[in-house]
Amino acid sequence: MNNIKDFPILPSNENIIGILGGGQLGKMIALSASRAGYKTHLYCPKGDNPAETVVNKITHGEWNDFDKLVEFSNNVVCATSEFENIPSKSLELLANKTNVIPSSIVFRCAQIRSKEKEMAVKSGFKTPVWYLIKNSDDLITASKSLGNKGILKTNSLGYDGKGQVKINENSNLFQIWEQLGSVECVLEEELKFKREISIMYFKSFDNSDGFFPLSENDHKEGILDKTIAPAIIDNNIEVDLRLKTKQLSYNLNFYGVLTIELFELLDGSILFNEIAPRPHNSFHWSMDGCDNSQFDILIRTICGLPVKDVESNGKWKMTNIIGEEVNNIWNIINNQDYILHLYGKKQTTPGRKMGHYNTKII
Ligand code: ADP
Ligand code: MG
Repeated sequence: MNNIKDFPILPSNENIIGILGGGQLGKMIALSASRAGYKTHLYCPKGDNPAETVVNKITHGEWNDFDKLVEFSNNVVCATSEFENIPSKSLELLANKTNVIPSSIVFRCAQIRSKEKEMAVKSGFKTPVWYLIKNSDDLITASKSLGNKGILKTNSLGYDGKGQVKINENSNLFQIWEQLGSVECVLEEELKFKREISIMYFKSFDNSDGFFPLSENDHKEGILDKTIAPAIIDNNIEVDLRLKTKQLSYNLNFYGVLTIELFELLDGSILFNEIAPRPHNSFHWSMDGCDNSQFDILIRTICGLPVKDVESNGKWKMTNIIGEEVNNIWNIINNQDYILHLYGKKQTTPGRKMGHYNTKII
């Protein structure tokens, strides 16, 4: 028995959308689903899960608890994951029972830096110079090729700047290799970029698609700090980026919402950094800056409803509230022009994303 439904999946009490992952993205996906008239069922391990307060049903389970995942899949008409490191095996299992969007193939690609870079190059993007590092000898050789300067990143499981270390001529490469867990890594050239930008493409199961305006992103210590959108960019460059993004999406047979993080160099050229096949922090401004936010669009795409390009209603700035900053937000609360989105996490730890606020700047 499976639960695979014909599209479109229309809003009704019977049509329950499955959300894998209980973080802030899961919470904001559930809020959009609820606004659109769907019910939601959350699957996540026990913990400090902000999404739990806004969903209709919760199953607590580990990502490899296949019995629980099957039980969950019997209750939902489709499922999407906010958790990028979900084991692709778990998604494959769910896909036998229900519509899983994006697919396990897409997540597998996004989880492995070397794979996503190879896919990007196949799709027409350029990347920073990089080397696959399987052992400390590889690291020594690659480091020499880059003039003893670069960024070493674990090939999988990194996020918010975690799992990466800068190296230079004074670095003890053996120690750094061990510090990262002696696992497969990539060593990248350290770029001097003008700015970081991100592009978001989306494709519905009815095959309609579209883009959000570009975001311009400012990171601090590897964590997104601020986004300004729409980013000002030469029209020809944006057209070219859209073409390559569509090609990458086509190569992955992609449905859902897809973000690509990019570096713009001083000479104006654009390099691929990484993909995220889910809503992305750099498009949180769309919650107030667009008629349909990235979360609204994700719901439309996974239910097979028609989608088209999204416009912004002015220029917006999104600012993240990170770690202890959440204990000092009176100036934000006191200003009605700051539209505050607090995630409701119980624990505050350094570098943890606790909320964000959007401000219309023009
Ligand atoms: P994560 O998965 O943690 O987001 P990223 O590869 O996106 O990992 O790195 C986080 C941030 O670190 C980037 O947004 C950028 O600011 C900086 N960074 C990453 N790679 C490079 C690079 N090759 N050169 C310069 N800065 C980089
Ligand atoms: Mg990143």
